[in-house]
Amino acid sequence: MDAEHVEKDLAKTLISEDQIQQWLAELARQIEQDYDGKPLLLVGVLKGAVMVMADLARHLSRHVEMDWMAISSYGSGTTSSGVVRILKDLDTDIMDRHVLVVEDIIDTGLTLSWLASNLVSRNPASVEICTLLRKPDAMRMSVDVKYVGFDIPDEFVVGYGLDYADSYRNLRSIATLAPHVYS
Ligand code: IMP
Repeated sequence: MDAEHVEKDLAKTLISEDQIQQWLAELARQIEQDYDGKPLLLVGVLKGAVMVMADLARHLSRHVEMDWMAISSYGSGTTSSGVVRILKDLDTDIMDRHVLVVEDIIDTGLTLSWLASNLVSRNPASVEICTLLRKPDAMRMSVDVKYVGFDIPDEFVVGYGLDYADSYRNLRSIATLAPHVYS
């Protein structure tokens, strides 16, 4: 879905489809270098990371495995609930594996710091994190994020996997919502 199809619902496009795809292509080249000769497991965080994962995997010119976790940290509103819960665990045993977590957005960092320590406790060979978007609060976080696409202002955004009340995930770009959508 393009921004013009839901124009009335959107305030501003922050990151275009082209910008996203260009970053993913660059990230893929970097991953190929950094993991040269090492088997790699991409772990996507459902549902937000579906688009990033699908496009990143297709930009890669090497073998890669994919697995998924579902974690709840937000309700259907726009503020963090502070509660992290596994809704779906990995199908794969990650012991001695090189794991790259693929995230859509890091806001408070709460979800990610919880996830990183959960994965580290399973004794993988390595765990790194990549995220398409990062909000300002996340920069104060203690968890290292190896690859960051775009630092964005502290605003609620939708598109490219990110939702508001489970809609707008299929928007090709990243945008802020018009105020009337919230009320
Ligand atoms: P954190 O724990 O505060 O870093 O939140 C991470 C999760 O909250 C993300 O994986 C998203 O599912 C959700 N989230 C945070 N900010 C936004 C936003 O601006 N739009 C949509 N979802 C968001």
